Amino acid sequence: MPPIYMTSTYVQEAPGETKGYDYTRAGNPNFTILEKVLASLEEAEYATVFSSGLGALTALISMLSPGDSVAAINGVYGGTYRLFNKVFKRYGIEFIPVHSASQKDLDAAFAKKPKWLFFETPTNPLLGIFDIAILAKKAKEHGALTVIDNTFATSYFQQPLTLGADIVWHSTTKYVGGHSDVIGGVAMTNNKEIKEALDFARMSMGLNPSPFDVWLQTRGVKTLALRMEKHQQNALAIAKFLEAHPKVSKVYYPGLQNHPGHDIAKKQMTGFSGMLSVEFNLSLEATKKLISSFKLFSLAESLGGVESLVCHPATMTHASVPVDERHRNGITDGLVRFSVGIEDPQDLIEDLSERMKSENPQSLFPHK
Ligand code: PLP
Repeated sequence: MPPIYMTSTYVQEAPGETKGYDYTRAGNPNFTILEKVLASLEEAEYATVFSSGLGALTALISMLSPGDSVAAINGVYGGTYRLFNKVFKRYGIEFIPVHSASQKDLDAAFAKKPKWLFFETPTNPLLGIFDIAILAKKAKEHGALTVIDNTFATSYFQQPLTLGADIVWHSTTKYVGGHSDVIGGVAMTNNKEIKEALDFARMSMGLNPSPFDVWLQTRGVKTLALRMEKHQQNALAIAKFLEAHPKVSKVYYPGLQNHPGHDIAKKQMTGFSGMLSVEFNLSLEATKKLISSFKLFSLAESLGGVESLVCHPATMTHASVPVDERHRNGITDGLVRFSVGIEDPQDLIEDLSERMKSENPQSLFPHK
């Protein structure tokens, strides 16, 4: 097993002559180990690891200049939205929200000559699917780079660079780490200049992770394949159970045949991952009570760990998106997002089924 190189600095051969590393803000053997693994899984030439997913995105945005714009298709993580609109907007970088991937909406966005076409697929939290190959081709025709957040699918199920994307980034906090015990990020590309710009940004802006956090992610990634298979098996079982339940009005899971993006997902992914969202036939108050009553689904932000989580995007992960924009993008107040873990699926279904039986779910847990 690799040791953890808990060092800030490195002895040099001679003044200015390093043995490969000089200072951990710029590089560390643990970073190199994880970068090699993640690049190989993503079929990328290069990877740079960061302190968090948003650290990776900060490094990416720092490659842009005032006056540049980014066309972002509906469905990005709330913190991504906040980083563009509350931070980089002040530096003259415009975030162009693109309502859908329709030709009309894309034409309107490309008319503004964005430097990037930016999206997630599956999207967060509605699990919408975009055709990566088609969108990357269109972006190229308009001189824009395609930048994709591959956190939900992971490189195990989807490799956007092989479909024409230019840059892929992840919050490795999620499935890559896999155990909800670390925050991390990565950006990957086949372009050497972009790799050099990312390394430069990490060193210059202090976006480096800690060697220990990177070591944890290197350990986590060893079971990525096993975990992802189980996450998706469990998610499909739960999606089917919820779809048939009278208290559920809608289930969003790309693995269901009636999901509008199912065919594209089948074409570009080798699995459907472990995230699903649901609308209950309940009032907002009852929905909030119900999701607070589950025993095996912990009420928490984040996703991708071995334990199942449930969250309410409108008040949690997407609270930073203004309410009218949230509603326009389909994030209703009744929407609930599940990150399905790797527990016994029958236990998970029983938990849901038991709590959903009660008219007043809170009464099952008076101590909560
Ligand atoms: N991308 C997605 C899809 C996310 O869900 C998150 C965090 O929840 C991020 C990016 C940001 O990553 P991090 O929290 O590691 O900064």
